Amino acid sequence: MNLYFSDQKPVGRPEKEQRLNQKAKVIWMTGLSGSGKTTIGLALEKELYKRGFLVMLLDGDLVRIGINNNLRFSVEDRMENIRRIAEVSKLFMNCGIVTIDCFISPTNKIRAMAKSIIGEEDFLEVFISASLEVCENRDIKGLYAKARTGEILEFTGISSPFDVPADPDLVLKTDEMTVEETVQKALDFILPKITLQE
Ligand code: ADP
Repeated sequence: MNLYFSDQKPVGRPEKEQRLNQKAKVIWMTGLSGSGKTTIGLALEKELYKRGFLVMLLDGDLVRIGINNNLRFSVEDRMENIRRIAEVSKLFMNCGIVTIDCFISPTNKIRAMAKSIIGEEDFLEVFISASLEVCENRDIKGLYAKARTGEILEFTGISSPFDVPADPDLVLKTDEMTVEETVQKALDFILPKITLQE
């Protein structure tokens, strides 16, 4: 049976949201490497899970060893990387699940594409903001050092552009706040948006 030509419809998103007692959204974290996307994403997932929400965390490193393991870092591949992630997030969303996406997603164009796939209403853009200097000093994965010596090419912030988001839904300045403060601010923003009204 072909789903598209069948008169039987799959169970809808509202029913699934009811079942999970939550509203599905896509929380899109954008920012430089080392800005804090994964740290915040992991903590946020834990906090939301504790409160009874079902959350899927998608992260750059995880996706690049799995579904996108054939993609590199050219402009075209970055676009395709984000396109697939946005489509996967949409599938989770239509299953009633809250998705937290932690991806550099460096350009206005790339984020606009993600937003258009997911839909304006459901796409919550969170800018994880820290200066290049701070991220480079953190250099937790040693990638900035490699980018500076040319061992890694097309590295965001060094040899590849990052457009500061023009109108994000939330800005988290990780070079001015502790992890705990940052996660609390994210929680305060997100909880009302994913809580199902009685
Ligand atoms: P990204 O996923 O953006 O590449 P990571 O989360 O892997 O970044 O690394 C961010 C680093 O910055 C971690 O070592 C984290 O402990 C540190 N950090 C300092 N302050 C904050 C903050 N307020 N929020 C998130 N991370 C922070």
